[in-house]
Amino acid sequence: MIDCGLYQGSRELDEENAEPFGFDAASIDYVLLTHAHLDHCGRLPLLTKRGFRGEIITTSASRELTRLVVLDAAYLLEEDARHRARKGGHAGAGNDVKNSLYSTLDVLNCLDNFGRTVTYSEVLAVAPGVSATFIDAGHILGSASIFLQLSEQGHSTSVLFSGDLGNAGRLLLRSPATPPRADNVVMETTYGDRRHKPLGPSIDELFEATNETFKRGGNVIIPTFAVERAQELLYFLNDGIGKGRLAKSTQVFLDSPMAISATEIFRRHPECFEPATGKLFRDGNDPFGLPGLHFTREAAESVALNNIGGGAIIMAGSGMCTGGRVRHHLQHNLGRDKSAIVFVGYAGAGTLARRIIDGAKQVRIFGEDVPVRART
Ligand SMILES: [Zn+2]
Repeated sequence: MIDCGLYQGSRELDEENAEPFGFDAASIDYVLLTHAHLDHCGRLPLLTKRGFRGEIITTSASRELTRLVVLDAAYLLEEDARHRARKGGHAGAGNDVKNSLYSTLDVLNCLDNFGRTVTYSEVLAVAPGVSATFIDAGHILGSASIFLQLSEQGHSTSVLFSGDLGNAGRLLLRSPATPPRADNVVMETTYGDRRHKPLGPSIDELFEATNETFKRGGNVIIPTFAVERAQELLYFLNDGIGKGRLAKSTQVFLDSPMAISATEIFRRHPECFEPATGKLFRDGNDPFGLPGLHFTREAAESVALNNIGGGAIIMAGSGMCTGGRVRHHLQHNLGRDKSAIVFVGYAGAGTLARRIIDGAKQVRIFGEDVPVRART
């Protein structure tokens, strides 16, 4: 099996996650995992819960990130189940979590199914007649396309599962490697018809917005995804300070326990970086180690950030502002014309991020109407 992801985005899709797989989980011997995004690894704990006892094989970085991502998912699923139980009036000890798609315990059992780890380009004999090569997909840390060579009764064929592919020419991760010729290719086309903005001008915009906001005396709030985007931002901000495009005194708060953990995982895997960034690292220059960087893990530290009137960059999740600590920072900064909200990623229809980007004059956060006066 290749990947076992979670549907995300709406109530209906949430329900779809609980449907039968369409196969017997216990009959699966191996899962080869392309990368640690939730839509590729998010139902692995459910697979285990339903009887899978085989081996999950992936890269070392993906294994570490997956642990973080599915533990977080279980926490959110349990929270959601508790919330529903309270609303339905049948909250009780243990009663609530039973109704979640899977629990933290299922995640722990699933982590036991992780077996061999692979390095890029190594040919791994998965089982008789099945060998797999993981090829750097340049998408997120540890991501891979999987090239399968299959043979049975004298016949052989090859299948390439692309996984998600990154863009070439980014500075932190390597560009996607070219896979070998394959008889069959299986790939997603989610962004196949979309043109991405080039990176350079976007970074210029981020620096300009930051400098202008600091001149006005406000804060810069950046809603961000915890894995990959947050680390990329730290890297660009560090680079900007090093090149004198941002003040050395710039204070950056990474206000997301998950993003902090993900950053630590990145630091453990410099082998996945662009050669120049990898060298920086080996020379003892941490590309995520900005002079004014603060990690705020504890909730109390996060709340204390509300007292900062200006001059700070605050990065927090979730990227689309549908949950997480960023909503508190929006509540405190959206109404201030000195502050700025900088969106750095995709915002789905119907999300709070989308409403702000589309120019809403007022939004509702924690049941309170907040006027939008900050620059976006
Ligand atoms: Zn992905």
